Amino acid sequence: MAKRTPSIDTKNLTAVQLMELDSCTRCGECVKWCPTYAATDGKPGLAPRDKILRWRQYMNKSYGIKAKLFGPQEIPQSELEEFKDDVHSCTTCGICGTVCESGINTVELWEALRANLVKKGIGPYGKQNMFPKLIGQYHNPYLLDQKDRLAWVPDDVKIEDKSDLVYFTGCTAGYKQLTLAFATSRVLNKLGIKFAMLGEDEWCCGSALIRTGQAHVNGMVPLQVAKHNVEAIKKMGAKKVLFACAGCFRTAKIDWPRLLGEELPFEVVHITEFLEDLIKQGKIKWEKSIDKTITYHDPCHLGRHVGVYDAPRYVLSHIPGVKFVEMDRIKEFQRCCGAGGGVKAGIPDLAEGIAQSRVKDALETKADLLSSACPFCKRNLMDGRDSMKADIDVEDIIELVAQALGLKLD
Ligand code: SF4
Ligand code: SF4
Repeated sequence: MAKRTPSIDTKNLTAVQLMELDSCTRCGECVKWCPTYAATDGKPGLAPRDKILRWRQYMNKSYGIKAKLFGPQEIPQSELEEFKDDVHSCTTCGICGTVCESGINTVELWEALRANLVKKGIGPYGKQNMFPKLIGQYHNPYLLDQKDRLAWVPDDVKIEDKSDLVYFTGCTAGYKQLTLAFATSRVLNKLGIKFAMLGEDEWCCGSALIRTGQAHVNGMVPLQVAKHNVEAIKKMGAKKVLFACAGCFRTAKIDWPRLLGEELPFEVVHITEFLEDLIKQGKIKWEKSIDKTITYHDPCHLGRHVGVYDAPRYVLSHIPGVKFVEMDRIKEFQRCCGAGGGVKAGIPDLAEGIAQSRVKDALETKADLLSSACPFCKRNLMDGRDSMKADIDVEDIIELVAQALGLKLD
């Protein structure tokens, strides 16, 4: 009788991750915090614990003692397809890892499982499969012309040809949410800070590929993206690179050095950290008051993934007129907006459902305005707000800073 081959393999999973699968104690703490599980009224299969236990079971069926003695037990394709749907429904928010008593690095695990399945031709989810082609061919996920990278730049904004500071706009701010790019560039100009941009040499940071387990598809590895962007930044002579997008920031800060296997030759800074420093140095002279009660949503990619919690709060609470209030769930225990991990592109209804929960958190504070520091969070929180017909403004911190400096946003 021909020997059966296991239905799954261990590609993309590290030895540590294989041990982590065994270290889950089934305590269920992660289940209480998972935003996708909550937004689907506890859909079986979406709970982080359930995903870990299922993969552990698959491993046992494929490589356990019984599998060694009697051959691997088959896992039906339909079951793997269902598992794929469940693992791609995760926003990679990371709160399951934060609360996990066994210290499992869940975000890395979900991404590894996604990559493992995508390699087998199972997944990704829905429109997410367009990312490799779009990013590979167009260098942005929006099917837009790379030549138009700087088309958003208004006449009043001054950009240097070369500078030791580069503003990495990101695809979303550069093509879709232009007010974020207008605000960032005008704030820098107003503060007398010279900066350059990469123009056509700014490629998508690669986040969408990495987060959805498609790092290797079509030969368009994020390594190429990381190499290209890092080389372009080096050519510019930059010592510091500014990001106003939490997704790009996380990718540059964590994924690029890991992919390249070396430290980056420049500093990666989020715009809120940069502004916090300037405020502390007394270099910001506010011109207008924003008389509003404002709360702040921590983007997962800025907060839990990198640990930037205080800078956005510092900036907000220094804007004249702002009364800053906190939601119940903040910082490492913040509730995800629902947009991350490819969920906005792949399962928009789920993304919107999660956003509604976050908007409800904000409404409980009686704030006039819900702020964040990421274009994805802003978009999804606005969608959640609109679908609930809730009465609360949603703006990025940099837009508020621009307004308080008397700058226009169009
Ligand atoms: S990362 Fe967030 S969305 Fe994904 S399983 Fe964990 S808690 Fe749920
Ligand atoms: S919190 Fe950690 S140990 Fe507990 S069930 Fe979840 S993954 Fe397992």
